[in-house]
Amino acid sequence: MSENNWDALVVGAGVGGLCAAARLSHHGYRTLVVERLDRVGGRASTEELDGFTINKGAVVVELGGITEQTFEEVGAKFEVRPADPPILYRINGRDVDVASGGWGLLISQLTRHGASLVKGIGAAREESGLPDRELSTADWVRRYTKNDAVQGIFRNMCGSIFAVGSEELPARVFLTYFTRKSAFKRFGFCPEGTIGIWKALAEVVERTGGAVWLNSEVERLLVEDGRITGARIKRGDETVDVTCAFAVSDVGPSATLDLIGPEHFPSDYVGTVLQGDLPCGMISVNFASEKPLIKAPGLLSFARTRRLCYIANFTATCPEMAPEGWHLYVGSGVPKPSVGDFDADAETALVLQDLREEIAGFEQARILSIEVTRDDWPPQRAVSGYDLPHGTPIPNLWNVGDAVKEYANGGITACAETAKIVVEEIVHSAAGRRS
Ligand SMILES: Cc1cc2nc3c(=O)[nH]c(=O)nc-3n(C[C@H](O)[C@H](O)[C@H](O)COP(=O)(O)OP(=O)(O)OC[C@H]3O[C@@H](n4cnc5c(N)ncnc54)[C@H](O)[C@@H]3O)c2cc1C
Repeated sequence: MSENNWDALVVGAGVGGLCAAARLSHHGYRTLVVERLDRVGGRASTEELDGFTINKGAVVVELGGITEQTFEEVGAKFEVRPADPPILYRINGRDVDVASGGWGLLISQLTRHGASLVKGIGAAREESGLPDRELSTADWVRRYTKNDAVQGIFRNMCGSIFAVGSEELPARVFLTYFTRKSAFKRFGFCPEGTIGIWKALAEVVERTGGAVWLNSEVERLLVEDGRITGARIKRGDETVDVTCAFAVSDVGPSATLDLIGPEHFPSDYVGTVLQGDLPCGMISVNFASEKPLIKAPGLLSFARTRRLCYIANFTATCPEMAPEGWHLYVGSGVPKPSVGDFDADAETALVLQDLREEIAGFEQARILSIEVTRDDWPPQRAVSGYDLPHGTPIPNLWNVGDAVKEYANGGITACAETAKIVVEEIVHSAAGRRS
């Protein structure tokens, strides 16, 4: 095969794209990954700023789940240092380790209705204990208690894991996640920044006869007789046409539709994609200090904040992420509303106000950057519970990534899961059959 003829074309080198590409390569498909940026990782990548390693999106990576499994299966190094304990909650001025005392202890410190709420979570283990699809997590909690701190904890859990407020996340999603899924119990940081781990997947693609083209943009996915036949790619100053047997897109179904043209799809599919294109938003403050500002070695979350969901303490486990003598943190919050338009200046001011109130010494810290991520660089392309299908009406085209997550999953874990499912479908499909 020449450089222009491939088995698999993967559009975008984000988590879903690279997990899919590494799996496809591992199955023996000659795979081309095309990425418009100068680096891999997409919204889970990293940049350097004055000697500080700044993540451009995802900060923590789940351990022991589908992401780690992907690396094991394709034979790639998975360098994530565990944070132990992973998360503490600041309750009435104390930083509490929920893992050691349990949710019952935590919530019972805040409300005398704690026991019934914990029982409600337990009941959700049975299908009959799950609430209606429409009920929000905030309304579900309100059934048990009006306590602000309890509401705050649930709001910040929804923000930390699903990147939306508890008013916007269905309780059914929250409870399904906490009672049936891995529930982000163990996680850590990548010492090179989150980008570090994806480079290992790109290497798998390259050492098995595939290629990763950076600074290259798919301008058009080419269709003939209702099937993808290849793509037109802007590679540096050149325009290159490649052919492929099938394609996997990591840019979200809506952008994928634009790359092909809606005229190639049935109108009901176009309607579903356009209606489901509802990315959420997040505000992250990267800051550093010569004095340590928090003790939690992983994430610190809060019960009584306006917008701030968590602070991540990178240098406690990965000191190489900052120049010697410096401590590096990011404080992240979800705006209100977290889906649709919001006032970025006012919402950022609330995150900063929380940081000033919660963290003694924040006023003296060096703010490295403030990132409002939304629209085409969102923390999640679809709110969990409202995802689009990964399959498409075009029989040799699939989507991966966080717009097509399985029910009640989120973040990197969910993207890695989409890649596993899609690659299994490809392997068993006519498109994936090799002559
Ligand atoms: C601020 C923030 C914090 C987060 N924190 C966490 C966290 O701590 N833990 C966690 O698990 N998750 C976290 N997430 C979520 C996680 O980062 C995303 O769910 C995940 O990275 C999305 O990956 P994806 O596969 O959907 O692809 P994307 O990251 O969207 O990658 C798609 C890639 O395609 C490229 N591209 C687009 N169009 C084209 C084209 N035409 N041609 C070629 N390339 C193209 C883009 O440049 C991009 O690199 C966070 C996200 C954000 C923004």
